[in-house]
Amino acid sequence: MKYSLFSLAANTLTKHKNWKPALVDAHPKAKYDAIVIGGGGHGLATAYYLAREFGLTNVAVLEKGAIGLGNVGRNTTIVRSNYLLPQNGVFYQHALSQWETLEKELNYNVMVSQRGVVNLFHSDAQRDAFARRGNAMRLSGADAELLGRDKVQKMMPFLDFDNARFPIMGALLQKTGGTVRHDAVAWGYARAASELGVDIIQNCEVTGFEISNGRATGVQTTRGTILSEKIGISVAGNSSMLAQMGGFRLPIESHLLQAFVTEAVKPLIPNVITFGAGHFYVSQSDKGGLVFGGDLDGYNSYAQRGGIYTLRDVVESGMAIMPMIGRIKLLRSWGGTVDMSMDGSPIIDRAPVEGIFVNAGWCYGGFKATPAAGLSFAHLIARDEPHKIAKAYTLNRFASGHIIDEKGQGAQPNLH
Ligand SMILES: Cc1cc2nc3c(=O)[nH]c(=O)nc-3n(C[C@H](O)[C@H](O)[C@H](O)COP(=O)(O)OP(=O)(O)OC[C@H]3O[C@@H](n4cnc5c(N)ncnc54)[C@H](O)[C@@H]3O)c2cc1C
Repeated sequence: MKYSLFSLAANTLTKHKNWKPALVDAHPKAKYDAIVIGGGGHGLATAYYLAREFGLTNVAVLEKGAIGLGNVGRNTTIVRSNYLLPQNGVFYQHALSQWETLEKELNYNVMVSQRGVVNLFHSDAQRDAFARRGNAMRLSGADAELLGRDKVQKMMPFLDFDNARFPIMGALLQKTGGTVRHDAVAWGYARAASELGVDIIQNCEVTGFEISNGRATGVQTTRGTILSEKIGISVAGNSSMLAQMGGFRLPIESHLLQAFVTEAVKPLIPNVITFGAGHFYVSQSDKGGLVFGGDLDGYNSYAQRGGIYTLRDVVESGMAIMPMIGRIKLLRSWGGTVDMSMDGSPIIDRAPVEGIFVNAGWCYGGFKATPAAGLSFAHLIARDEPHKIAKAYTLNRFASGHIIDEKGQGAQPNLH
């Protein structure tokens, strides 16, 4: 069913009784040309591009729960491409350009809002680092603007510019960055993939692989064995678990990351703001709540809820730039399990077992990657060769030493 003003009006006249279900709740078939494990944003986008770009429609997405309840529906919705290293810059800029046309392509309102991302800086050294990053961004095709204190003050007069410890000296602005309604991305891709013939199978947990002579031939699931010669793993925080089932290891740790939402207030924050002297990022949802997050909880975990000490740390960072939020009430918080790679950059590559492909290691930042990750993972699965924008995201870079250490913090996943 096409969504339009006309279909809305027509369905209003018939009291909304004739809307068709957005997607078919499929049952597993015995065999598929390709299987994608994980019905998050990446898995659903992969299935959509497999069908649309590569003509593979005999595809199943296997999701252990309901689609959209993993990290895709738990993140802080920020999209941007303000990367320093060329391997990341090109990839994330491609993703950002895909977001710009995604709603039209999917015929689904995912609320893409290019409201700008502002990274505050608080010292001379940080200004120099941001100037360098801005130049690198421009070289990879992204927009970047270095703002002095006056300009930032004009845009966001409510910030605390004279904080004794962290005075705001300016900011790096990416105007085309912003936010996208996170769970709508899962629904939009699912609906479009289902329309192209993809089976989206919910409540179907993969529990093992069928492997013969070193080649994967299918998966064992809670709904029986399903055969396929091409199997993509796209399960975010559960990547290591799936790798273990396949008999190999990944350079990934699972960590807990929290997000927070306050009660609704009148429009206050016009864009996305990040604090430069601690880990705090905030935007305001269309409903009015301030949506923010910060650091990982700091220990390995599969729990989807976090500790109060991280909450305290995050809001303290928030208070350093916006003291007035001290009076706002926190409404909700939740956690997600993020797949932290050793260099902070992702992996889109073949697994050591033939027939298995891996899309993992997205750390804090895989939501904004969703369209590009889906496209390049589909390319890899369909053609058995990497997409040009994701060539650097190999698994063996950790063995060869060609790591993509965006933050320059070494092989310590909880620092990325
Ligand atoms: C609190 C938080 C804030 C974040 N903020 C941002 C942000 O602002 N911007 C940004 O770019 N990124 C952000 N991220 C990261 C981003 O959300 C993730 O990198 C991205 O969503 C991961 O890809 P996904 O959507 O496919 O993951 P998921 O939605 O987690 O999908 C993986 C799916 O695999 C399923 N699965 C797992 N095991 C199995 C199995 N055995 N069988 C079948 N299915 C299985 C899971 O149920 C899940 O639905 C944030 C993450 C969190 C947790």
